[in-house]
Amino acid sequence: MDYFSKQILLPDGWKTNVRFGVNSSGEFTEIQENAEPAGASVIEGIVVPGMPNLHSHAFQRAMAGMSEFAVAGENNFWSWRQTMYKLANLMTPEQIRVVAAQLYMEMLKAGYTSVAEFHYLHHDFKGKPYAATDETCTQLIDAACQTGIGLSLLPVLYMSADISGRSPATEQARFAHDIDSYIALFESLLDKQSEQLRTGMAFHSLRAVPIDALLAVIGYYSESFSDHPLHIHIAEQPKELEECLQVYGNTPVQCLFDEVDVNQHWCLVHATHVSADEIALMADSHCVVGLCPTTEANLGDGIFPLQEFLTKGGSIGIGSDSHVSVSPVEELRWLEYGQRLISQQRNNVADESESHSGARLWNATLNGGARALGRNVGSIASGQRADLLVLDDSHPLLYARPPEQVLDSLIFAGNSNLIKDVMVGACWQVKDARHKQEDEIVFAFNKVMHELISKL
Ligand SMILES: [Zn+2]
Repeated sequence: MDYFSKQILLPDGWKTNVRFGVNSSGEFTEIQENAEPAGASVIEGIVVPGMPNLHSHAFQRAMAGMSEFAVAGENNFWSWRQTMYKLANLMTPEQIRVVAAQLYMEMLKAGYTSVAEFHYLHHDFKGKPYAATDETCTQLIDAACQTGIGLSLLPVLYMSADISGRSPATEQARFAHDIDSYIALFESLLDKQSEQLRTGMAFHSLRAVPIDALLAVIGYYSESFSDHPLHIHIAEQPKELEECLQVYGNTPVQCLFDEVDVNQHWCLVHATHVSADEIALMADSHCVVGLCPTTEANLGDGIFPLQEFLTKGGSIGIGSDSHVSVSPVEELRWLEYGQRLISQQRNNVADESESHSGARLWNATLNGGARALGRNVGSIASGQRADLLVLDDSHPLLYARPPEQVLDSLIFAGNSNLIKDVMVGACWQVKDARHKQEDEIVFAFNKVMHELISKL
């Protein structure tokens, strides 16, 4: 199948009159510039690569907007976590699937074409494994198949209640594995990999995984699986740093780098509270820092020192994490605005290679996100997964924009969704801003929310 685009973002910049093919494996084939449309399907609109979402806890979509009231005592990440635990201990595998399908559909409509699912809700309500130990993973895979989004499923190792190494608390029992059962789960997912499904490993945090256990799993991984992604929550909260200093005598980022060869396969999620030395360590290692600005703002986490990290050549990607927002546009807008509010300057991420903030942010997070997901995505090039977005160039926010201001306008102008069509793996999943299974997905989600909402 051949397509023709009058305006398209290729790896070396904006091009006009480009013809490209897609094959039955869901990849781009030959890309021809200065081509003719004859015989090709003409795409009406501006074509850009789809965005990878590098951090998601799908079940949390069911509580978006439902923890925005003050509770007795402190109102912070730790008080929010109690509501999250309550939800985590209410949801059946079927409900997890239905909520994930709604979420993944929303992601597609907003411009995310693939997602890394940082999944720790593994067991039944008593903390016992389901008959199929990958039961809840299978539900997420089914949700990805129903919606068409590319899924990098990262089962999470979670072993202790806190950094002292205490056994998981009752409300954490659904999350817990030992090393052997965790590796068995990972191997069961390896068997299910496909063009749509990739897998990798995730360590919840140094709070929930003792360093000895982390090293044991890395030892197993290093023997055979050195190209799968490895993710970890790190340095999200000041309290986490204090506890890590008490137990290990060092901060979480420094501990990780002291113990492990952190390389380009690692994604350090949040990394909010880091020193200048840690910024340099992360940048030099070629790891990706996973930033989730709307969740980090919602939880009162703090602001990542983005300019310092990018100046040192660091790689970043974005995630919607708790899904208070499901929009790469909003994540990137908040990412830049956080820096502007601190620095009292504009266009903070722009540099000599790219003076436009929108293009700089979009391209940086395409590249970092693709690497964090372990997928051939993030650019429109032969051999890459055919994931793309079609922007509505007839919309007043995009009409007559010169190419170099298209991504600036997408990210910084207005609040309309400018994405009209979405292709994933060479299949159209969204057309005219509607997902092909939208009615069924929304109906099922509303039914599940009716069941859950009175219990939250
Ligand atoms: Zn997270």
